[in-house]
Amino acid sequence: MHAYDTIVIGAGHNGLVCACYLAKAGRRVLVLERRSVVGGACVTEEIFPGFKVSTAAYVTSLFRPEIVHDLRLRDYGLELLERDPSSFTPFLDGRYLMLGKDRASNVREIAKFSARDAQRYPEYEAMLERVAAIVEPTLDETPPNVLSPRFGDLASLWKLRRAIRRADRRRVIPSEPARERGRRRGTDCSTARTGEVLEILTGAARPILDRWFESEQLKGTLATDAIIGAFAAPSMPGTAYVLFHHVMGETNGARGVWSYVRGGMGRLTQALASAARDLHVEIRTDTEVRRILTCGNRATGVALANGDEHTAAQIASSADCHVTFERLVDPAALPEDFREAVSRIDYSSASLKINIALDRLPMFICHPEPFDYGAVRRAQDRLDVEGSTSRPEHRGTIHFCEDQDFIERAYDDAKYGAPSREPVVELTIPSAVDETLAPSGKHVASMFVQYAPHRLKDDTWTHALKDDVADRCFAVVERYAPGFTASVIERQILAPPDLEATFNLTGGNIFQGAMSLNQLFFARPLPGYANYRTPIRGLYLCGSAAHPGGGVMGAAGRNAAREMLRR
Ligand SMILES: Cc1cc2nc3c(=O)[nH]c(=O)nc-3n(C[C@H](O)[C@H](O)[C@H](O)COP(=O)(O)OP(=O)(O)OC[C@H]3O[C@@H](n4cnc5c(N)ncnc54)[C@H](O)[C@@H]3O)c2cc1C
Repeated sequence: MHAYDTIVIGAGHNGLVCACYLAKAGRRVLVLERRSVVGGACVTEEIFPGFKVSTAAYVTSLFRPEIVHDLRLRDYGLELLERDPSSFTPFLDGRYLMLGKDRASNVREIAKFSARDAQRYPEYEAMLERVAAIVEPTLDETPPNVLSPRFGDLASLWKLRRAIRRADRRRVIPSEPARERGRRRGTDCSTARTGEVLEILTGAARPILDRWFESEQLKGTLATDAIIGAFAAPSMPGTAYVLFHHVMGETNGARGVWSYVRGGMGRLTQALASAARDLHVEIRTDTEVRRILTCGNRATGVALANGDEHTAAQIASSADCHVTFERLVDPAALPEDFREAVSRIDYSSASLKINIALDRLPMFICHPEPFDYGAVRRAQDRLDVEGSTSRPEHRGTIHFCEDQDFIERAYDDAKYGAPSREPVVELTIPSAVDETLAPSGKHVASMFVQYAPHRLKDDTWTHALKDDVADRCFAVVERYAPGFTASVIERQILAPPDLEATFNLTGGNIFQGAMSLNQLFFARPLPGYANYRTPIRGLYLCGSAAHPGGGVMGAAGRNAAREMLRR
């Protein structure tokens, strides 16, 4: 008789979600985490005294609302702070683009650059929302096995086909352009529309944006979402899905709205950990799993770095495939073709994170006039010691991108194995809406930076290089907000090898494996293994290496628990 029914490796958000659902079903669960804090890449840490920083993930929208409800996470302190405006892009000519929830205001903002784009933007958003309506339900389902389908697999493929057809009938793509193209190509308009859905799921972001819009200011802003966490330029296939991935989700019922978590992202995983403990899950931190024990082709337990061993009927690993199958499992326990397929998983990555303590908020040359954001949002304003209010431009994601070519050029450097000379920087300042993060009058900010390849051609990630890349990022911001660099009190630079070492993310890949089409849905992590099972009986995957992939979603943990209970 085992002391535990299930051992979960890793207390990232997915491991904790998985543990909670198993415990809710009456299983005795032990969660083992190598770090001294729970949360994985969804964590808050006081890395500078008095400043609480979301060390890795910094915004949320994808986290499944059903999990918040099922585990009563609001009762455990989870509070989502909507970001509105959601995005602000200053330009060197003194103009700016500010987008948010208010559709009429978005249209006015875009009209500053192109009347045609302003007219088309609501259509574009509606199209993405309808595609999201097809794709989003698949996040909560186990993908079908297309290699050796059983009845259930065929049924779920049929369901997906029906959803696409339904969306097609509801005109996923606006009828006029689709009809026009259809006529030109000699296809009916339904074929043209379905083709465009497929293009979003498989194609490049840039040609899609180029077709929809003419203003480079708008396209540049939208294109930055297409490269988050991807080692790819917007002109490369697969980036349309990354862009689309970032418009799914919701905050407090509002679709596509990204939020901060009050207290930092770690409050979400702290809430999960509290819910887990109340469900009698045992969580041990500072406890590294060194080996997954097997007997024949069955998992029997884990061996820890301190030499202890624990047995259980089921093991769920929330670490990525390289860690799970190439470091923790004895290779002899795995079929050779599986091992080979695991060795081919793409972890290429070029994301770098800079966490910053700020003495004051940045002031932008374009200096937007305050918007009338209504009483609710005005209540979020707070005064810093000098008496300056955090303003709309500080609340969302601040983009620094004049046009799409800027991103392409930044990628060019990385393609040849060097960090971008002019990196693509996304700046967020969560303390602009959350006073719990920094001492009064001070702020925390984070820069998410592309492209910083893990593997460099002529260099290694020394401290000097990291400082140099951080200085390049600050120089980008400085152009639009002079004085920014002087306002920095402290900075922490996490290059891909640091992300790898800190969070055990192979190659520093923020998604536990690239989110390219060949590694998504029924092919995540590998074709034939998208059902959270592995060739070793009793060993499951429950982290973002599995469907539906990276991002703070909780779907992989919940889906895995469902499969483990179905056993
Ligand atoms: C820099 C960065 C920025 C990001 N920004 C965002 C964002 O803003 N929004 C968003 O939605 N997503 C973002 N992501 C992606 C998102 O954070 C991750 O996809 C998600 O947190 C992964 O959760 P997980 O539970 O699947 O895995 P992880 O969070 O990776 O958790 C796995 C856990 O397993 C532990 N572990 C590994 N090996 C062992 C072992 N041998 N023994 C014991 N424990 C082990 C690890 O320490 C870790 O705690 C970002 C990621 C990074 C790195």
